[in-house]
Amino acid sequence: MTDKARLEYKMIVEEYEAKSLIRKSRTSLFSWSEMYLNPYQGCYHNCMYCDGKSEGYYIHDDFAKRIRVKKNAPELLEEFLKKRGYFPINRKKTASLVDYFPDLRESADTKHKGKFVIFIGGGVCDVYQPVEKEVKMTRKLLQIADDYKFPVFFLTKNDLILRDLDLLKKISEDSYVCACFTITLADEEKQKIFEPNASTSQERFNAIEKLREEGIHSGVYFYPTLPFIGDTDENMTSIYKTAKDVGAEFVYCYGLTLKPGRNKSEFMQTLSQHFPDDYPKYQKLYGNNNKYGILDKIQFEEMGLIWPEIKGYKLGYELGLGYAAERYVPEGRFEKNLQLSEILHKMQYLKSFFVKSSRSESQALGETAQFLITHQKDIAKLNQLEIEKLVENQYVVGCIMEFLQSGESNTLKDLESNAYDSVYRYVTEKQQNL
Ligand code: SF4
Repeated sequence: MTDKARLEYKMIVEEYEAKSLIRKSRTSLFSWSEMYLNPYQGCYHNCMYCDGKSEGYYIHDDFAKRIRVKKNAPELLEEFLKKRGYFPINRKKTASLVDYFPDLRESADTKHKGKFVIFIGGGVCDVYQPVEKEVKMTRKLLQIADDYKFPVFFLTKNDLILRDLDLLKKISEDSYVCACFTITLADEEKQKIFEPNASTSQERFNAIEKLREEGIHSGVYFYPTLPFIGDTDENMTSIYKTAKDVGAEFVYCYGLTLKPGRNKSEFMQTLSQHFPDDYPKYQKLYGNNNKYGILDKIQFEEMGLIWPEIKGYKLGYELGLGYAAERYVPEGRFEKNLQLSEILHKMQYLKSFFVKSSRSESQALGETAQFLITHQKDIAKLNQLEIEKLVENQYVVGCIMEFLQSGESNTLKDLESNAYDSVYRYVTEKQQNL
């Protein structure tokens, strides 16, 4: 990084040798990736609500100024893939026998092992923050994903991702790319208060449009939705409609958490400065100091607020937008296992948020969704009795059998439509009582 750029960014860049890079992750509607990695520690975007600033992540105090770069990140990723028997099938020179016997190339790619979607940027720092412009660490990791023909997932607030469009297009044609943007505030002035160094919301929407034109999967993470500021009808409608206009496939919506400590104190300081009228309301909402930053539900109800997830689901349904990304089935994996896992995860989500159901049923859906991902047998080859030995809950068995027999899940479709009816009634009642 040049001195000029450092001055311009007013940040300190430190390179270091990391001991590890790749982490396993549990899949959910938030992300279907099973592995994540991040070459950076710290994030110059400096969002005022950033959860990454929480002490629990053990990232240094000056999170937004001192950006630590894992300089050996590409080597660590390659080492990880090689150790597990994966082969750089797309690389011209592989430094192996394959260079002399090209016929072996296909068989050297251990398809049977099964690949997985890598979340480049999982964890708590944006991989397309300004430092990436100079050090190009994310691009190097993307190149390795392309060499090994691995699908990737991104979540960013910076349109710098478009710099790598060439690689994204190639990986997308070869396997899969889902490149998403967090967008929480349509009004630029407000957005700059809370996300001072990220691309503007409009720039992010433009980037989605560009990605979609190139056939790359993309969506919006409307997360976190700020009470009284981001959850207004005006802001939510604007974000959902613009998302639709630019071709986003889905909007994933979720509320704000404020963990006691740096995360909460910095956010509250920003509020007192720019939104003094909202400050006391947040004091009430987050006065419980929940260790996970979850707001006080009793206060929330007393204030007559509507859950952003509910409003978001209603808006998305009406506009024909999904509420989460579609799950991709990587090479060498059991297709039905992963498809079913997506269906069950979605059902669990709908039942937890919008449609009343028993806790045990919801739990069984979630547990089976996780179990199916790592299960070593193809569920499509099992009969009902064998499935019943694996899955205790009869409702979940019914959902599995329906999908295996018909290739679709009407139960999920019905649930989505019931969820819409239920949120419609809820929002209308709430608005009448205002
Ligand atoms: S972009 Fe993400 S990681 Fe970076 S400061 Fe903002 S919330 Fe934190």
